[in-house]
This record gives sequence, structure tokens and C-alpha cells, in this order.
Amino acid sequence: MQALTNKAQQVDRRPMNLLERMYLPTIIKGMAITFSHIFKKKPTINYPEKTRPFSPVFRGLHILNRDEEGRENCTACGLCAVACPAEAITMEAAERKDGEENLYKEEKYAAKYEINMLRCIFCGLCEEACPKDAIYLSETFAPADYQRKQFIYKKEEMLIPHPINEPEAYAKARGNKVVTSQ
Ligand code: SF4
Ligand code: SF4
Repeated sequence: MQALTNKAQQVDRRPMNLLERMYLPTIIKGMAITFSHIFKKKPTINYPEKTRPFSPVFRGLHILNRDEEGRENCTACGLCAVACPAEAITMEAAERKDGEENLYKEEKYAAKYEINMLRCIFCGLCEEACPKDAIYLSETFAPADYQRKQFIYKKEEMLIPHPINEPEAYAKARGNKVVTSQ
């Protein structure tokens, strides 16, 4: 029968000789290949004890930013949701009340803010669209989970810790990414 491609190879069906029936030369050859790899540099790392350095342009989990006084930057303008090609962002706006000036930077804020991480393609367009530096993609991976509903990230999960009340947690969440407050 004519082969369909030129990748077809004729199978050698000769009866094995004594040396081949002992399999020893083949085993020695295989072991030599295995031992030759022992002294080579390992291409793998012991994750999670060790992690590879991130690229400066790595885009991970979203962080909702605060200003230096700890007030939420987001004004619920919706530009990030409009820019999102995956339609992963939803929010509900609310008016800031008297006495809440220390909580929200602007007169309008996001009472509810959600991102569906199963839709998100980590393109970073939400970060680029935001006029208030209220959202950015951090150096943290989205953790694995067993239930789809766990991938709907709520505002409380994405809001960066308070810079004055929790400075260490704030610095850790912020990472090395340079974020400027307006
Ligand atoms: S990173 Fe891209 S896909 Fe994900 S929420 Fe932002 S704009 Fe949408
Ligand atoms: S994160 Fe930025 S773009 Fe999105 S609603 Fe808040 S202020 Fe507007």
C-alpha cells in the first residue's frame, strides 16, 4: 500500500540476534543517557519553595488600589468594564456620604466590584483604562480552586490592605510594581 506521507518508516522485522535478545547493550545505552543528565543543570525548580523571577511586565491578580491615606481610589466610572474585552468586570456605584471622606477618595465609589477570573485573559486593559490608578495587575498568581463560583473575585478580596493600618501587608500586596496615586 502506498504511504500517505513521506514520514512512514519501514518496520525492521528481522529476528533478533543473541546480543539483542540479552537486551544488555540497550539497557547500558539507556543508563548512560540517564547518568549523563545527573550532572547537567536542572531545568526544573522546586516550586513552591522556589519561584522563578517574574518578568517586569508580568500581569497577575488584580489589586484595587488605595491612596497614601488609605482611601479607595475607585470612582466606579466603569471605564475598566468598558475596556475589558472579556466582559469580566461588573460593579455597582454608590454616593459617598458625609463622614466617609476617609474611606473613599471621590464622591462616588464602587459599592460592589467583581471580576470573573474565569473570563479574564489578564490583558491589562482595565489597568490602562483606569484614570484613577485604582486597579492594577499584581505579581501574584490566581490560585487554583475546585468551584467556579470561587473565581468571582469580590472587591474585598482585591482591595489592597490599608497602607497606614497594615503597612507590612500593604507592601507585600503591592510588590515591586510601581503604582502612582493621583
Ligand atoms: S485583565 Fe483584561 S480581561 Fe482581565 S479584567 Fe482586565 S481588561 Fe478584563
Ligand atoms: S477601577 Fe478605575 S476605571 Fe474601573 S471603575 Fe474604578 S476608577 Fe473607573
